[in-house]
Amino acid sequence: MIPDFALSCSEFESVGLTLSREQYEKLSIYAEFLVEYNEKVNLTAITEPMEILRKHFIDSILLTKYVDIPLNSTLIDVGTGAGFPSVPIKIYRPDIKITLLDSLNKRIDYLKQLCEKLEIDAEFIHGRAEDFSKKEEYREKFDFSCARAVANMALLSELCIPFVKQNGCFVAMKGPNEDISLGANAVEILGGLIEKEIEYKLFDEERKIVLVRKISQTPSKYPRNSSQIKKKTL
Ligand code: SAM
Repeated sequence: MIPDFALSCSEFESVGLTLSREQYEKLSIYAEFLVEYNEKVNLTAITEPMEILRKHFIDSILLTKYVDIPLNSTLIDVGTGAGFPSVPIKIYRPDIKITLLDSLNKRIDYLKQLCEKLEIDAEFIHGRAEDFSKKEEYREKFDFSCARAVANMALLSELCIPFVKQNGCFVAMKGPNEDISLGANAVEILGGLIEKEIEYKLFDEERKIVLVRKISQTPSKYPRNSSQIKKKTL
């Protein structure tokens, strides 16, 4: 369900990444299961082999090219959906310890089956980010939090920054059109600092990674509950 090994390798190479046979085999199993499961549970609108390769797998893995993730780091993927970006990252960088969080239990069920098939170790959380980051066992416990296609920068900051340890990073994967400065106030209130905006191309599409460094503790009143968050972003 993805292009053959030679073509997949050349797609990876064209964005400056390599691909091993073992990684390819796992991505193939991933794509096949994604498309099969998508027939009964809505996971993705992208089902064409080359699009899965480029827009899900390579897009996710590019995070490891632009962000320096030290060996054995912990990473929580907030609103992971069908596992993006963290499951392809885990296939590429098995040393990283991933936690998959999503508010939809059907997606968590699928992710558990997927990770079993891929023989991948992961922690699964079914719930809302704003509820779980208040719990002591998750609050300020991760080296990295990340999210792709979940919410605007201000809202996303409230969902993601509370999970990150001091000096850790929140990584937001964005398209070209969002004005990141609209999230700057939220980032600051939550203890972050926008360190870098990295612009790059995913084939012919513009992409952006926003790297937020956690420079101080998140005040205990954040995150607010979901109705307050929805009513007014910081
Ligand atoms: N990150 C995936 C990707 O890039 O394909 C999925 C993106 S999907 C558009 C957004 C996901 O975020 C959905 O699976 C949804 O259930 C989840 N989500 C939205 N708000 C959330 C919250 N507050 N806490 C946890 N999950 C949330």
